[in-house]
Amino acid sequence: MLKPFQDYQFKDQRVLVRVDFNVPLDENFEITDTTRIDESLPTLRKIIHDGGIPVIMSHLGRPKSGYEEKYSLKHVFDYLSSSLGSPGIFSTDCVDEKAHSAVKECPPNGFVLLENLRFHSEEEKGDLGFAAALAELGDFYVNDAFGTAHRAHASTAIVARFFPKRCAFGFLIEKELEALEKVLFRPERPFYAVIGGAKVSDKIGVLEKLLETADGILVGGAMAFTFLGAQGARVGHSLCEPDKYSVCLGLIEKAKNLGKKLLFPLDVRIAQEIKDSAPVKTCLSNEIPEGWKGLDIGPETVELFIRELKNARTILWNGPMGVFEVPAFRFGTEEVAKGIAMASRFGAFSVVGGGDSVAAVHLLGLKNQVSYVCTGGGAMLEFVEGKELPGIAAIREYA
Ligand code: AMP
Repeated sequence: MLKPFQDYQFKDQRVLVRVDFNVPLDENFEITDTTRIDESLPTLRKIIHDGGIPVIMSHLGRPKSGYEEKYSLKHVFDYLSSSLGSPGIFSTDCVDEKAHSAVKECPPNGFVLLENLRFHSEEEKGDLGFAAALAELGDFYVNDAFGTAHRAHASTAIVARFFPKRCAFGFLIEKELEALEKVLFRPERPFYAVIGGAKVSDKIGVLEKLLETADGILVGGAMAFTFLGAQGARVGHSLCEPDKYSVCLGLIEKAKNLGKKLLFPLDVRIAQEIKDSAPVKTCLSNEIPEGWKGLDIGPETVELFIRELKNARTILWNGPMGVFEVPAFRFGTEEVAKGIAMASRFGAFSVVGGGDSVAAVHLLGLKNQVSYVCTGGGAMLEFVEGKELPGIAAIREYA
């Protein structure tokens, strides 16, 4: 059992904290969604409140090689400083003299924000020397970046070995793990998973695992067409992966053998083009005409899915039911989001993860009506799949 973050005291310590400040910026480098920064504030505040100095490290975007203005973490500095109500220093590099002098000059109650880790290619390579250079900046290491916990990068996993008995998860990772462990290891039943998104090939491991742990899976999004196509349906020009037909048939068989529900769309919203102005029709999911694509689940499917969700005591949702980005194909995703919120009001424990599902919940103002919104899409899927996440394993090994 790990010691809870709350029980550590950080007085006079430099605390190297890995956060996920990978926030979206507009063309003027203004933050368009501050959620990821906001979620890290409790951990940073505790360190400052204890009298320690958080030395904050993160990545932002995917810089190709070296510095790129649009990926500089300087764009988040003012927001962070005002949110913490604390004087801070921005270090234009995350290692070497600049970073060391920023830490040295940091006033009490202050913080240091290091420049984007990924301006150094060693970060993503999990380079030991780079991790050692980062480690020199702290007396203690905290990982609070669940979104990158599935990566064995220098700052997310490798650095922990320089802090034996001096590392911990922050409040955010503690919360993420608590919610996901509750769903996967101690679910109140019935437990339903709602899985959507583009490709079945990305989520085969997740579906395999959920067939074992959940009582039922509701499948939407384009990935449903591979399941439908595998069973002989006419899927028209819908996104479909015929090379995964046999895997899908295997999953259907597994569901039957285990007595689990595996539900697919009954009807779908179709169009010839993915654009808002395209004429849209509704048809049976196994009779999509040539030249038409299934782009959302239809009203009968929504009704079916909502009926199942009403009985659920535990719900896990990842992936949109359709091309959620285009308003004409948003209906299914929105209705499922509302259904999950309603089930939660009646006592179900619900966890939502993955970019589009989280965006849907935000867009509809339902964030506080589901039990937990997970900050990591990829990390959540790997966790659900039962994989060991390097960022989680490292703290468990060295704490
Ligand atoms: P994922 O990252 O796998 O969760 O997939 C999300 C993407 O799936 C979004 O960009 C959606 O637009 C896309 N998507 C969902 N349903 C469909 C569909 N029926 N046809 C094409 N793309 C879809």
